[in-house]
Amino acid sequence: CGVFGAVNVQDAANFVALGLHALQHRGQEAGGIITHSADRGFQSAHRFGLVRDNFTSAKLMETLPGSIGIGHVRYSTAGSKGNTAIRDVQPFFGEFSMGGAAIAHNGNITNAEAIRKELIERGSIFQSSSDSECIIHLMARSIQRTHAERLKDALRRCEGAFSVIAMTRTKLIGVRDKLGVRPLVLGKIGDGFALASETCALDIIGAEFLREIEPGEMVVIDHKGVVSSRPFERTSPRFCIFEQVYFSRPDSIIGGRSVYETRRQIGVELAREAPVDADLVCPVPDPGTPAAIGYSQESGIPFAMGIIRNQYMGRTFIEPSEQIRNMGVRLKLNVNRALIKGKRVVLVDDSVVRGTTSLKIKEMILEAGAAEVHFRIASPPTMWPCFYGVDTPERSKLLAARMSEEEMRAFIGVESLKFISLDGLYRAAGEAEGRSKSTPQFCDACFSGEYPVEPSDMIARGFEL
Ligand code: 5GP
Ligand code: SF4
Repeated sequence: CGVFGAVNVQDAANFVALGLHALQHRGQEAGGIITHSADRGFQSAHRFGLVRDNFTSAKLMETLPGSIGIGHVRYSTAGSKGNTAIRDVQPFFGEFSMGGAAIAHNGNITNAEAIRKELIERGSIFQSSSDSECIIHLMARSIQRTHAERLKDALRRCEGAFSVIAMTRTKLIGVRDKLGVRPLVLGKIGDGFALASETCALDIIGAEFLREIEPGEMVVIDHKGVVSSRPFERTSPRFCIFEQVYFSRPDSIIGGRSVYETRRQIGVELAREAPVDADLVCPVPDPGTPAAIGYSQESGIPFAMGIIRNQYMGRTFIEPSEQIRNMGVRLKLNVNRALIKGKRVVLVDDSVVRGTTSLKIKEMILEAGAAEVHFRIASPPTMWPCFYGVDTPERSKLLAARMSEEEMRAFIGVESLKFISLDGLYRAAGEAEGRSKSTPQFCDACFSGEYPVEPSDMIARGFEL
């Protein structure tokens, strides 16, 4: 998901809508905005679909007045796909003794089911199926006297990944879990401030990027400025390495580094780890493009757009059903036949999950007359599900959980298939020594199976580590 908030700006809703539009890659299923103004109090709008199809109408935006607002774009993770109700769409709002507050959450609370069960037994009435709603109910039960203190109380009960933006009548609040699994950044715009999942959302509104909210940090922002505190115990951060590979936008800055540069460097590492004799390096667009550029630069094999993407399709994995997902590849990608015919082609993609995409692309590219196909993958084999807010299917559906690299190569039916090593990926992400064995610098559980936070709800449901 993506979150965005702005405070002390004129017509905050417009900024929020623009910010969410820049974060649309983080979630395309639905979006919502809440604002507050002295005249109209809290006002909200929640809609299915894209930001540009909803939050561009003057009629709707006029209903969201005020100089403070937050918003959310939703990406549904396993279990809820296709079943989302409008009441699952964030931001969520609650009335408290000291006034209303709204929250928007990116990540996944790994003990939310246990919390929900306990709260329901004690009388809470949940409206949605979302793990994030726990936060509002926990805030309601806190005895603290400010929203920020109540939010701290609530989040101290929550495990897992959370980058949360909250708003009251006058304050914008941002918090990251102690591992900092999901991103959250702070920007300055005129006399106001903005919080966003990624820096690309600051760019679109012309805000200056000040800094990242640190793992385990809370900032409370109003017209007087930014007050920072540390509600959680300090620990080594474990930012999601898949954000670097795929999830974030390449024009965002994370950990002081451009995501594009990290992805290009993954291609460089891949060319060193898995060289091959070939005529062309082609990305599977768009996610594979920066890594393909790096692979081409390091290997000296010319870069070419052998596959063309139809810009008007969403990402295939966001499509709800398996059937549509299977068709989706062809609807979205087409082979540039004139270029490919008779060539030995290196195809660079960001990840292999179920293997559906790779299989279809191989078919298309052989049909177009390629002489050889070599897959190079910009992440290690995806062998484990993510429980921290990225949608990966259950283990049995992950190709790499069932097959060795050679078996996958034979299954997809290509001349060669190589994945970047975990160490190579860490080097590309700026860790010159590679992955630290004692305390890895990132979360990489979907590749390593080492979960930095025990997924307790899933274990209660029978998931085995
Ligand atoms: P597959 O067809 O192997 O299941 O999916 C792999 C493709 O799905 C990749 O090329 C990647 O671009 C895309 N993909 C995107 N996002 C995700 C995601 O969140 N999880 C996964 N696991 N795959 C995604
Ligand atoms: Fe990111 Fe993978 Fe960790 Fe999930 S399991 S947070 S996708 S690195």
